[in-house]
Amino acid sequence: MTQLIKSICPATGDVVWEGAAASAAEVHAAASKARKAFADWSLTSFDHRAQIAQKYADAVREKAEDIALAISRDMGKPLWEARTEAGAMTNKVAVSIQSYEERTPTRITDTTRLAHRPHGVMAVFGPFNFPGHLPNGHIIPSLLAGNTVVFKPSELTPQVADIMGACWAAAGLPDGVLNIVQGARETGAALLDADIDGLLFTGSAATGTFFHKHFAGRPEIILALEMGGNNPLIIQEPVDVDVAADLAFMSGFITAGQRCTCARRLILPTGKFGDAVVDALQAKIAAVKIGRWDIDDIFMGPVVSTHAADAAIKFEADLISRGGKSLTALDRDGAFLRPGLIDVTGVNVPDEELFAPFLQVIRTDSLDAAITVANDTRFGLASGLICDAADTWSYAQPRLRAGIVNWNKPTTGAASTLPFGGPGLSGNHRPAAYYAADYCAWPQAGQVSDVAVGPAMRGFW
Ligand code: NAD
Repeated sequence: MTQLIKSICPATGDVVWEGAAASAAEVHAAASKARKAFADWSLTSFDHRAQIAQKYADAVREKAEDIALAISRDMGKPLWEARTEAGAMTNKVAVSIQSYEERTPTRITDTTRLAHRPHGVMAVFGPFNFPGHLPNGHIIPSLLAGNTVVFKPSELTPQVADIMGACWAAAGLPDGVLNIVQGARETGAALLDADIDGLLFTGSAATGTFFHKHFAGRPEIILALEMGGNNPLIIQEPVDVDVAADLAFMSGFITAGQRCTCARRLILPTGKFGDAVVDALQAKIAAVKIGRWDIDDIFMGPVVSTHAADAAIKFEADLISRGGKSLTALDRDGAFLRPGLIDVTGVNVPDEELFAPFLQVIRTDSLDAAITVANDTRFGLASGLICDAADTWSYAQPRLRAGIVNWNKPTTGAASTLPFGGPGLSGNHRPAAYYAADYCAWPQAGQVSDVAVGPAMRGFW
């Protein structure tokens, strides 16, 4: 029986997309279409593939407003923010071409040849929070390297994928090279069992770990897992209290706390300075503008669903039952959440990622203690230090165990010209963004001579 999926706008409750989930048979058909298309696509020149990608960038630029609206309607992020996501999707093409050439080049000398070959059919799984930008960050490098793709968008954010598919078609991508299968877990499960050579995933650690187990004992499958974090932000003196609170606010609450790089734990010194940062943060929480994505001056929209809001309220209650002291309670209206702040110093809290605007404050009495708390997590995605003293930064930076270590910037700041990922449960050591080219191709090395010459050791036989 055909399963219907619906996207419900968390800001309005309206059904904004409805469609059939791809059945197992349809998923297998998509993978076999990708397999057939691979034979020709993998042998096209890089220049040809790059030209098509550039035309895709042009098409995305033309459709930027439709893309932004689709993202906002599906998951509720403010339109200004969805527009920056649409812009990042266009820019990804140039960065990926540069990264392909730099990280997976063809190098030919008189005696050696290095080339890079595509893996085959790549399954791409996307998360809801950047439904355009993040799958795009797997798809473009995959196609540039000569792979073909089956893409399953998040069931919470199906709309943008259809526009992406139309943009690739308008760019002249041959039929079968990119195949989109809409659906939820059942569709995803079918894709895991389809004829694929790799799985490129951005999503939660729970799902990524499940995929890792699924492919255990299959070293021929390339797995790139980009997962979550329980990200720490350390604030130390000297720094302006208000600036520090602004950076903490951005780190914790942008996109309603639904970025993998959002700070979850705010590590402040004991004493008056730390107290003042908490006060400033509370004032900002009270003043922040929250609302529907189409209101001009809102900072944040709702979380992705009422179910996600329920999970946040439950998480907060659990921390309180463990001894956490609520500083500013989460304030809920449907899927809208005014951010929360809780002091959990000395409390045994779960090392989990809550994907919501909620910061756990931990007070410490030294920089070493702050670093120990920061590293006390199974994850290792993003971290940050806010402090004007360069020696504090140079002491902390090599001691912080995270793939992203920012200084005097929000934890959410990330550059497309840098790799993106981290140790621990945040991934499987195959970072994305600038290093995505690495997992999209394998090296083929050769010793070569344009004339056949017998080996010098002939006398031995
Ligand atoms: P999710 O893990 O719930 O879902 C991601 C994708 O996997 C979706 O397409 C979903 O349908 C699919 N999926 C989930 N369970 C499945 C199963 N059992 N079988 C087959 N498919 C399955 O993640 P989400 O809630 O959409 O996104 C939020 C998470 O993503 C957060 O944990 C966040 O930290 C993480 N994230 C990580 C990065 C990064 O680059 N490291 C970036 C953004 C988001």
